[in-house]
Parts: sequence; structure tokens; C-alpha cells
Amino acid sequence: MSGLLFGTAGTPCSTPQNSTISGIERIAELGLDCMELEFVQGVRMGEQTAGQVAEVAAREGIRLSAHAPYYINLNAREPEKVTASQGRILQTARIASLCGARSVAFHAAFYLGDPPEKSYDTVKKYLAETLGQLKQEDNQVLLRPEVMGKPTQFGTLEEIFRLSKELKGVAPCIDFSHWHARTGTANSYPEFASVLQQADDWLGRAALDNMHIHVSGIHYGAKGERNHLNLKESDFNYTELLQALKDYQAKGLVICESPNLEEDALLLKETYESLRGSI
Ligand SMILES: [Zn+2]
Repeated sequence: MSGLLFGTAGTPCSTPQNSTISGIERIAELGLDCMELEFVQGVRMGEQTAGQVAEVAAREGIRLSAHAPYYINLNAREPEKVTASQGRILQTARIASLCGARSVAFHAAFYLGDPPEKSYDTVKKYLAETLGQLKQEDNQVLLRPEVMGKPTQFGTLEEIFRLSKELKGVAPCIDFSHWHARTGTANSYPEFASVLQQADDWLGRAALDNMHIHVSGIHYGAKGERNHLNLKESDFNYTELLQALKDYQAKGLVICESPNLEEDALLLKETYESLRGSI
């Protein structure tokens, strides 16, 4: 993959028909490069449609990824909720693979008051089972637990890097806006560069060559993330993030989750292309 690809979380706002296929065509028309299939309310796409989605994406040269349903908690108290969470990840991975997507982003868990270390062991155990099932099915999709925006949510940078190091088939989804909202900091060139350096330290250069990134403007308070904003209405320092990504020669997908989707995705892409690498 050469450089970074930019796209939207779901079909662009200006898509004439509300379907995944028209969304992919609209991405191509706009001059964007990729799109995340949003199965956040449930996986409702059939296998036949997935085959058509794969065809259209290949024809238009658009890379796809997928986002699993929000209703996932691998640290749930009730065994049936854990099984249902694993099922939602599997369902997303199966349909994503048929669509030609290579990555599935998901929100792994809530701590529910547990010490983070205990949650980590629980999440790792149930994620390992899920990966075992995908391996049996010869499904090559990478599972990408996301860096999360609230301190009640499992998903610090370190937790995500550690899972990615310890489990084959797991790679990070780095949501820089979540991390900024969670920490109240992480919004300057040296801090963005430090995140990329940590990715390299934990996982090696390969992690920077195959990144999955979420970005949006974000509104946050003492309890972390509140809601997403358009970039220019927020304090998120996207230009310095893009400069750090350029300097580290990061490659992969940048998915824009601002409410105005394609407008900010294009802003990110154009800004990125206007920057010079300093290394
Ligand atoms: Zn997400």
C-alpha cells in the first residue's frame, strides 16, 4: 500500500441513495480512497449483497473496512452476553471478508469496575477464542480493537498494543480523537509522534505500514468523550497529526467519523497532500 488512504465511516452524506454500493461509488466520485462499512446497529447485509459490494469496490478501486456492532462487551458478567459479543464480532468478520474488507474495528469491552489488568485477561481470553474460530474458517480479516474515548471503556493505547502483540490476527485501531478526549492531552505533534513511536516499539515497523486510524472532531469533558464534531468546530489538531503520520511514513486507512463525513475526509486528504515530510 502506498501512503495513507482517506475515507468515511459509512456512506458519505451526499450519497444519492442510501445503499452501501452507491456509497462506494460516491467515495470514488469524491476522489476519496476507502470506506468503513458501519454495522454498528447490527449486521444486516446478506451474502449476495456482500459479493456485489466486493465487486463494486474492486471496480472502483476503493478499499473497505468494517465496524462491528456497538453491543459488544467481552468483559460482560453474564456468559450469554460474552457469547453474543463474540457472535457479533464473528458475524461482522464473515460478512466483511465477503465484502473484500481486511479489517474489522470494534469496541472490545467496559471495565464495569474491574481492575484494568483483570479486564485485560478476560478480554484476551474471549478474543483468543474468537480468533480460533475465524482461523478454523480460514478467515484472514484482522480484528482491530479500538482505542476508546471514555475512562470506563477498555481500550487504552497500551491495552490495544499489548493485545495486538500477544494475539495473532489482532492489530490496533488507533482512534486519535478518542485518545485526545480520554487523556485531555494527546493533541500536539510530539504527542502524536509518541503514539506512532509506541506502535513501532510494541509491534515493529509492520504496524506503521498497515495502520487503521479513526479521526473526527470531538467534544469531551472530565469523563472523556461526549460526542463527535466537525474538525473545524473542534480543538483537534489534525494538521499536526497528519504531519506526524507523514514524517513516520505511516500507511493504511484513515477513516473520518465527523458528522460531515466526506467534507472532513477531504479536508484531511487535502491537508495531508499539502504537507511535506520532514524525514
Ligand atoms: Zn468505533
